[in-house]
Amino acid sequence: MYTDFQKHLQNELAEITSAGLYKEERIIVSPQDAEVTLDSGQTVINFCANNYLGLSNDAELVRSAKNALDTHGYGMSSVRFICGTTDIHKELEQKIAEFFGTEDTILYAACFDANGGVFEPLLTAEDAIISDTLNHASIIDGVRLCKAARYRYKTADMEDLEKQLTEAQQQRFRIIVTDGVFSMDGNVAPMDKIVELAEKYDAMVMVDECHSAGVVGETGRGVTELFDVMGKVEIITGTLGKAFGGAIGGFTTGKKEIIELLRQRSRPYLFSNSIPPLIAAAGVKMIDMMSSSNELHDTLTYNIGYFNSEIQKAGFDIKPTASAIIAVMLYDAKLSQEFAAKLLEEGVYVIGFSYPVVPKEQARIRVQLSAAHSKEHIDKTVAAFIKVGKELGVIG
Ligand SMILES: *Cc1c(COP(=O)(O)O)cnc(C)c1O
Repeated sequence: MYTDFQKHLQNELAEITSAGLYKEERIIVSPQDAEVTLDSGQTVINFCANNYLGLSNDAELVRSAKNALDTHGYGMSSVRFICGTTDIHKELEQKIAEFFGTEDTILYAACFDANGGVFEPLLTAEDAIISDTLNHASIIDGVRLCKAARYRYKTADMEDLEKQLTEAQQQRFRIIVTDGVFSMDGNVAPMDKIVELAEKYDAMVMVDECHSAGVVGETGRGVTELFDVMGKVEIITGTLGKAFGGAIGGFTTGKKEIIELLRQRSRPYLFSNSIPPLIAAAGVKMIDMMSSSNELHDTLTYNIGYFNSEIQKAGFDIKPTASAIIAVMLYDAKLSQEFAAKLLEEGVYVIGFSYPVVPKEQARIRVQLSAAHSKEHIDKTVAAFIKVGKELGVIG
């Protein structure tokens, strides 16, 4: 049996490779940080981690995690509702709710699970989900698991959203779902207008703050802070795997009854293990750090502004951004691969993105800024961009 299947898989893999879509993994032998060491021995400046606040290797978070290893051990060997809930899990849920100005929080093993398990317990075939076309894969999968009627609107297009809301008026309940920051362009969902339309058409709102929490808004509380709509969305999902420490874990935070029902019925919560106490403890520390000082967020904001202005001064074309994601546009798939490879030779680690991840003719280098980057890191990177840009004829 396996002989035929093996052949089939080998063909599939060969197709992926010949389409130029085969994903290689680069091996890092150091902690995740502003600079990382690769297994080749080369040390490079890292501009492709979601390590926005530079907490992935933060000494205080490491210390909190080590402490929790001593006080609470290594693993939970249980789902939350059997014997997988410690005082630290409850503390973290409370802190996340305070941070986002919501009523309660439920933790998951990942935000992929939070999004996968949020719709099916809450909505039925009588209801409607109105989803941005560029929403994250986990939202798309979560919607698929739910029987609610599906409506899609063109990304961040409020005219189309209004049209879909009009068409969804027959359903019992409606929810609009959007990413806070879209990860390819770095643009934000217009939450003020989304909330306005939700009020006009009697809909609820859910926002995924994975790329915006810790990054967007005056104090890093995400797009609800940026657009002054804190408390006006029913559901926020997010991750502990990006700005919030970078380890693993996800959450849904929002209205009390929603969270309560998810604890009863959300399948990834009921049937998957608790995050280890050490991760929860570092999460508590992270929220405490962010609540007591805006320093990391201020540094990140400064770095974003500095890179943005320097790269534009050098003559590069970037997408309008309101986050720590900056798309340096090259428009050509092959060029962007070559550009990224040459930057690596210069000691700068970035990724080139092309079709099908972004539209055809929209190939680019995606740069992700971090509070861990120093001015020297950014200067060196801009200089490398200029050198390679001239070599490849992108800039004059
Ligand atoms: C990264 C990401 C996720 C998945 O988060 P994990 O905690 O890594 O599973 C979900 N949604 C969005 C928008 C993301 O960017």
